[in-house]
Amino acid sequence: MDREQSTKQKPNTSVNEFSPPLRLNIDLGAIEHNWQMLSGLCGTSQTGAAVKADAYGLGSNQVSSRLYRAGCRDFFVAHWAEALELRGTVPAEQISVLNGVQQQDVLFAQQLGAKPVLNSLQQAKLWKESGGGVCDLMIDTGMNRLGIEAHDIETIRSFGLQIDVVMSHLASADERSQQNDVQLSNFLEFSSSFPTSRKSLANSAAIALGSRFQFDLTRPGIALYGGTPRAELVSAIRNVVFPQARVCQIRTLAAGDRVGYNATFTASQPMSAAIVEIGYADGYPRSLSNSGKFQMAGEPLTVIGRVSMDLTIVQLPENHTLREGDYLDVCFELETISELSGRSPYEILTSLGRRFQRVYKT
Ligand SMILES: *Cc1c(COP(=O)(O)O)cnc(C)c1O
Repeated sequence: MDREQSTKQKPNTSVNEFSPPLRLNIDLGAIEHNWQMLSGLCGTSQTGAAVKADAYGLGSNQVSSRLYRAGCRDFFVAHWAEALELRGTVPAEQISVLNGVQQQDVLFAQQLGAKPVLNSLQQAKLWKESGGGVCDLMIDTGMNRLGIEAHDIETIRSFGLQIDVVMSHLASADERSQQNDVQLSNFLEFSSSFPTSRKSLANSAAIALGSRFQFDLTRPGIALYGGTPRAELVSAIRNVVFPQARVCQIRTLAAGDRVGYNATFTASQPMSAAIVEIGYADGYPRSLSNSGKFQMAGEPLTVIGRVSMDLTIVQLPENHTLREGDYLDVCFELETISELSGRSPYEILTSLGRRFQRVYKT
């Protein structure tokens, strides 16, 4: 096949040839700022980072690399594949795998050198019998999700494992709840069996509960990414995620025109509307139908009609200068969008779709 022919048959479709209609601008500087602010709240205790689920959808390598440079030395993922993904960015021994280790993963775990967070007597036995290595230990203090039970502590202690961090997790740190103090006092009691291990109890919300909850190491996640699960954090935490979506059509509506699936919006007067290339397939919640906000050069625009899979419609002001092909800012302040949509900030971030082009601001 000569060169000319092959060019004809394979048109050049490199990604440089089109402009992605969706951009996810991720401010790594804001993530570092948030980490530093949380560190500042934590006095002498070390500040780690939860980077599970691809750093809550924002890119675990980019986030971890930035935080490593800032001084973070403890990274938390959920799956072994996520620990592997960080190879080359973070030394394996600084990664904890929260979901623990099963028989099928033991060899892999030891080869990789990341720490399993042992969650049960069974896992502790498995780790000991397979020759062990440095690990972490989760103790359940009342959430009844992951963690060993109090009555297994003595047995596990007798194994003589090399336990770096002993941790537990609060169920209601984002609420004013008596459960927090109950879990704290359980943790103080249970963790005392491991006097040489580092102690860790606090996620983002628990950091704001004060120094009693901070121990040797904290494990913030959502607050790094702009979430403020407690009011105390609002002034310290910066927004991190700034999505933009392209307008693919602008149309004029007459009074009485109905808009979108199931006609949930009717124009009460003549108006213009922009059709924007973002939908629930991109993680833009369908529950933001007739309520979500966009911005055009700082001016707020409201969603009209149903959010559909690939498209959302917004009302434009009179005399707008918007053109097809322009980009709108999607209002994505986490607490606001969470309130409007009825979904948690965690769900919103981790549901962001794969059609976004991630653009990192450093
Ligand atoms: C996800 C997770 C965290 C981080 O929690 P945030 O609420 O996002 O700060 C900390 N610890 C454990 C065990 C977790 O599973």
